[in-house]
Amino acid sequence: MPLKTTTANTPHPLDTPVQFLKGVGEKRAEVLEAAGISTLEDLLEFRPRRYLDRSEVKQIAQLQMDEEVTVIGEVVAHQIHRGRRKRLSVAIHDGTGILEAVWFNQVEFFSRIFSQGQIVAFSGKVGRFRYWQMVHPDFDIIGEKKEQLNTGQLIPLYPSTQEFKKVGLSHYRFRQIFSRALQKYGDSIPETLPDYLLKKYRLISRAEAYRQMHFPDSLEMVHQVWRRFKYEELFYLQMVMAIRRRFHGTEARGKAVRIDDSALKELIHGFPFTLTGAQQRVLEEIKSDLESGKPMNRLLQGDVGSGKTVIALLTMMCGKFSGYQAALMAPTEILAQQHYFNIRELLGDQPVKMALLIGSLTASEKREIHRQLSTGELDLVIGTHALIQEGVEFKNLGIVVIDEQHRFGVTQRGELIEKGDIPHVLVMTATPIPRTLALTIYGDLDVSVIDELPPGRQTIKTFWRTEERLPKIYEFIREHLRNNEQVYVVYPLIEESEKMDLKAATEAFQFLQKKIFPDYNLALLHGRLKMPEKEAIMDQFKKGEVQLLVATTVIEVGVDVPQATIMMIEHAERFGLSQLHQLRGRVGRGALQSYCILVTPPEINEIARERMQVMESTCDGFVIAEEDLRLRGSGEFFGTRQHGMPDLRYANLVTDQNIISVARKDAFEMINSDPYLRKPEHRMVRTQFIKNYIEKYRLPSIA
Ligand code: ADP
Ligand code: MG
Repeated sequence: MPLKTTTANTPHPLDTPVQFLKGVGEKRAEVLEAAGISTLEDLLEFRPRRYLDRSEVKQIAQLQMDEEVTVIGEVVAHQIHRGRRKRLSVAIHDGTGILEAVWFNQVEFFSRIFSQGQIVAFSGKVGRFRYWQMVHPDFDIIGEKKEQLNTGQLIPLYPSTQEFKKVGLSHYRFRQIFSRALQKYGDSIPETLPDYLLKKYRLISRAEAYRQMHFPDSLEMVHQVWRRFKYEELFYLQMVMAIRRRFHGTEARGKAVRIDDSALKELIHGFPFTLTGAQQRVLEEIKSDLESGKPMNRLLQGDVGSGKTVIALLTMMCGKFSGYQAALMAPTEILAQQHYFNIRELLGDQPVKMALLIGSLTASEKREIHRQLSTGELDLVIGTHALIQEGVEFKNLGIVVIDEQHRFGVTQRGELIEKGDIPHVLVMTATPIPRTLALTIYGDLDVSVIDELPPGRQTIKTFWRTEERLPKIYEFIREHLRNNEQVYVVYPLIEESEKMDLKAATEAFQFLQKKIFPDYNLALLHGRLKMPEKEAIMDQFKKGEVQLLVATTVIEVGVDVPQATIMMIEHAERFGLSQLHQLRGRVGRGALQSYCILVTPPEINEIARERMQVMESTCDGFVIAEEDLRLRGSGEFFGTRQHGMPDLRYANLVTDQNIISVARKDAFEMINSDPYLRKPEHRMVRTQFIKNYIEKYRLPSIA
């Protein structure tokens, strides 16, 4: 039976539209809907942003000058004074004294919010002017005087917007709505995790979790609420991975590749170097994937310069020796071109027909390549997005390699794969992804790592310097230029301030050319240039005709110039750690000692300072990735959306690594023992899956 057929059609209580809940009504429903809350289930998921602990609240009689505190009291008076300066004054009484809160701005707006008899919390700095006073305090309306809903020790404070306030959706009102909804529906909130898993980890039930979320007995219970929902969230995420893997692996037959070891050996023998141990190991892993009869789905991680291109080539050639075509897709034309030329050199006089397919070719050139791909005349094609355009058809695409995966969206990866009939797929990335994160994003892929650089590489010496040191740095650069070495100077360019940034980079370029290095050839490379111009500049730099290249971050990935030994990064504080590491990887590509100089203003914030120190202390991409993740949090690790990274509501990919591991194990075990989730104890998992996951994650329809 296909997993897709739904079980029942009776609407579930959790799907009750908010409008029909007691205390909501049409107007509030509209406002809630606009905030993404349309059903009871959405509403239950509307989490307090924090809890106010009554024991931390101070009594007015105990207040002291200038301290920062929270007080709770009943509004006893509120009034707009129209003197020299209009102000709103709201007085509260807490049984021990009076405190006055004062607003000088948006007086009318605030005055509409308060009314006599409300119970409010004010937080801020205490002053004194006749009464104890707070100016522009943070405030929360937490109840009404005659409130029946005892809030207990902890008062949930919900996210609050002006729109909410306009329709009276105060914390108090929310509590009222929740109280009534839980009374009516609380017992019919279905559990989404099997009993044996709840027992195994001593998790509270889902119904209890929602009750405690909105009416917590203690902070410990709040902690239990989070523990439960974190596990649930990660468990289902791993279920997605488990199902993907299971049904990709068994349903699909991979292209049969017969590994021709002697042909491979001969090819490798022609290389100007021997493979590193790590490259050999990865090659073996790939070979056994290709021979397995199942489609390969492998992620190859390797730091910049670790030699992934060779692996890409060998993988493609395994296909070619078995009569398949192979395609390599790179994110930019510069990279695609570089791959093309490097690979052609590595191939030597091997009889391989290969083409470069990029957007800037003429229409007739493209058409010719399209033709040769569809007839099978071409063995290998290397290109950009041009590979996934309409009109590109392969005779028998067997191997797909995608370089610098993080630049592509998930769908683009899919589009190239769909050009073949379940081809073998190798995805390469130089962004080292911490293991747990890799499991979460690429949980359906096998992972190989090149954890060894080719021999003879020097570590790049990295220095962080402030701008006053520029004259010294220029002197240092000059010495190396004199020695026929080459230099990158990078300026940040971000979209929001692109024009200004470009101007700064242009000015810097002119200044360096005229005033500092008049006797050398400098060039300016930036994203606004047309492709042929960029190529011409890169080409001149590669040939050494240009010795110093001023660039915005367009050189970020992959460009390979062995004579380039200095990477100077201006305003390094504006780059993220991974980006800095990628940039640094542009030097140290040859045998010469290389340097990375990070230049910042003297005053930078604490996090930027830490980034500079990390860069100075290590060249290890994995260490840097972990640090990056720690400093930035997973959300920003790399523009998350395009990675198909899930928006996690409860779990944190950095701090919840333990939960990720156990949830993963549980999910995979469940799918192994009960692939169609037919066992009665898994019924709720099946229901939940059909409801929330199959479509969202585009899971294979499981027949
Ligand atoms: P990346 O992993 O960053 O894509 P590349 O594939 O561009 O790295 O390789 C970086 C450089 O190292 C290239 O010049 C390549 O020819 C060289 N290289 C690759 N493998 C080896 C090896 N085993 N020994 C020596 N040099 C190698
Ligand atoms: Mg590369």
